[in-house]
Amino acid sequence: MSFDSMGLAPELLRALADQGYATPTPIQSRAVPEILAGRDLLAAAQTGTGKTAAFTLPMLQRLHAAPKQASGRRPVRALVLVPTRELAAQVEDSVRTYGRHLHGLRTVLIFGGVGINPQIDALRRGADIVVATPGRLLDHVGQRTIDLSQVEFFVLDEADRMLDMGFIRDIRRVIERLPKQRQNLLFSATFSPDIRKLAEGLLHDPVTIDIAPRNSAAEAVTQRAIFIDKAHKAELLGYIISRFNWPQVLVFTRTKHGANRLTERLIRDGIPAAALHGNKSQNARLKALAGFKAGEVRALVATDIAARGLDIDQLPYVVNYELPSVPEDYVHRIGRTGRAGQTGEAISLVCREEYGEWRDIEKLLRRSVPAFEVEGFTPSPRPDRAAEPVERAPRPARRTPRGGGRQEAHKPAHAGHGGRADASSARRGRPQQRGHRHGGR
Ligand code: AMP
Repeated sequence: MSFDSMGLAPELLRALADQGYATPTPIQSRAVPEILAGRDLLAAAQTGTGKTAAFTLPMLQRLHAAPKQASGRRPVRALVLVPTRELAAQVEDSVRTYGRHLHGLRTVLIFGGVGINPQIDALRRGADIVVATPGRLLDHVGQRTIDLSQVEFFVLDEADRMLDMGFIRDIRRVIERLPKQRQNLLFSATFSPDIRKLAEGLLHDPVTIDIAPRNSAAEAVTQRAIFIDKAHKAELLGYIISRFNWPQVLVFTRTKHGANRLTERLIRDGIPAAALHGNKSQNARLKALAGFKAGEVRALVATDIAARGLDIDQLPYVVNYELPSVPEDYVHRIGRTGRAGQTGEAISLVCREEYGEWRDIEKLLRRSVPAFEVEGFTPSPRPDRAAEPVERAPRPARRTPRGGGRQEAHKPAHAGHGGRADASSARRGRPQQRGHRHGGR
């Protein structure tokens, strides 16, 4: 299906042409006609599938095609609820981008961590579309600075993440404020039992679209694991970025503190880096993101929640500096690369303490991911286990380790490897290699 045959207004087609989008993505082909026909929708689709346009285009079309002759205050006609401020900003950006040739539709962005008064002023001036995070939206509801009783179009985006973040009660409170008669769309990366329960109460006779079964994001992404001691991860990361001249990389840590520490370390190693996590002020987060988008920040170091839903074009590399505690988050993380038809590479730095998590991730993926050791960074052997001789360990090829992954590299830890430790050879390479690479530091 082409965009032209979807029945979209010429103004929307023009905006798509401006963006250079020639063909709809699968979620767009399937969702847009259903939404235009007025159906409720339950869609499993991850970031990177084009899901934002899949709901924004028909939303704009429907609002545009049936303008409301409002008397008095202009009512909010469409509400898009998202889990994070960054995602709110990105969805609003998409609404503006796709709606640029439509006139008379106003969008207001509502999220916490910034002053409420400008939002109140904007709402007072009239908003057709509101893109919001739940907490601040409810503040406005409480202060009666927003009226949701005329909402025709309700979108819950990244609903699974909203539930993970504990927003379920807030979501229900928002839904209570909406009129009975409305169109509902629910987007989620996974269809967990909780999501299904939420969907049952929210959606009326929905069309279900399952574009991205939960591990399909992995398809366009080349995945690698590197086995390494925890203490040497930061050094290896700096080495890989410089050595293979990665222009940009998104790096995941488990904790905010860890993100800060790694960011400082990378900066010390001469790599422009910024941390993105929930303890940063809204301004600091937007600045980090803008710096990354502008190419000034080479390594963006983020926690899972902060990185969720980031819309960053052409991100070639993702590094799992620490594995996520929930295996599903691995899929979300690597979904940041290999987007919209491009290929990407995801490298996980796995230390001995993480072998269990790594196994769970491979189980979820239902495949094993090629594993490597890097010469000079070979994990030190456990006193009771064998180490692989370092001479056999392949180095990453150009830019990333490529081909012929040494699957067995991680086996000693969890498959039980008989022989005696060849510790001396494992240790031999490291000091020498590192000294060499870092100019004898
Ligand atoms: P999303 O899944 O909504 O986060 O979108 C992922 C990325 O794909 C965004 O950067 C969009 O700008 C881009 N995109 C969306 N639809 C298309 C399309 N039909 N063709 C090419 N790129 C697209």
